[in-house]
Amino acid sequence: MKEGIVVETTGSWYEVKLTTGQTVQARLKGKFRLSELKVTNPIAVGDRVMVSNTDDDESIVITSIKERKNKIIRQSPRKKRYYQIIAANIDQALVVASMRKPKTKKGFLSRLFVGLEYYQIKPIVVFNKHDIYEEKHLKEFETLQQEIEAIGYSTLVTSATAKLGVEDLKQVCKEKLSVLTGPSGVGKSSLLNQINPSLQLKTKQVSNYNEKGQHTTTFARMHEIAENTYIIDTPGIKEYGVAEIDAYELSFYFPEMKDKLQNCKFNNCQHINEPKCAIVKAVEAGGITTWRYQSYLQIREELLIENKPYL
Ligand code: GDP
Ligand code: ZN
Repeated sequence: MKEGIVVETTGSWYEVKLTTGQTVQARLKGKFRLSELKVTNPIAVGDRVMVSNTDDDESIVITSIKERKNKIIRQSPRKKRYYQIIAANIDQALVVASMRKPKTKKGFLSRLFVGLEYYQIKPIVVFNKHDIYEEKHLKEFETLQQEIEAIGYSTLVTSATAKLGVEDLKQVCKEKLSVLTGPSGVGKSSLLNQINPSLQLKTKQVSNYNEKGQHTTTFARMHEIAENTYIIDTPGIKEYGVAEIDAYELSFYFPEMKDKLQNCKFNNCQHINEPKCAIVKAVEAGGITTWRYQSYLQIREELLIENKPYL
């Protein structure tokens, strides 16, 4: 038996990077049922597996899989009631953002954060394109950075173009499995190329940038950027997970609200217009930012509409 991590899945074959450094193609033998969840793919990138020890490359099989620390899933686009596992065993998420070209919307960030909280993945916000921030953007950036750190998330500053902060980013990723996410055009591919130039990923021209987000990657791709260091490129965590959340429990996924909830007069308080609401009070006192509260209201509305048939 040899241990390894699944780095790519292509239909019936799984590419497994062994702890010995060797990469093998393995098949799956028998049925794997890891949870009550109905999934279309029993094994995903990031899974830690044991493979059979054989000299014959054709017959290597995955014999067991380690319990997952976490996983990102989404509803299967084809099979109703089935889920697709996008990736497993994620240590952290690198959320790339920019104050300019294109400016990342705060609502977008909140949505991502909620999705990540749902999956229990820690976000690290990477403010890229620092080279083009002018005075006005620098001010906005500093405020936003402080606000995000006050929530409890860490931040980094980079410029893929000016090669700023690349070493910090490498350090943060070291020996971890990170997912890379953020809106289109913020510089995710450029940063990956800076971290590991041998990847040579295609980057897009900003002029071609489409506000709706043109996603060239439709599924998660895992890149090995150094020993034991992996980055998963995934188009959108925001769609994966937020939809699963019960609108009435949304505030649990806002860390700055979570510890104040017990101070609301009603234990089923939705923090809208109920009397003696600790959240509304905190917003008025400045302990919770207006934009985060707005995000809460917005996402809640969406969840209520989406989940209506079940109410
Ligand atoms: P992705 O869609 O997030 O992968 O973004 P890309 O890496 O494709 O980058 C989009 C565009 O932004 C490209 O034209 C890059 O050259 C440019 N870009 C990426 N990082 C930076 C940066 O730090 N500063 C500046 N000025 N441009 C950048
Ligand atoms: Zn309340």
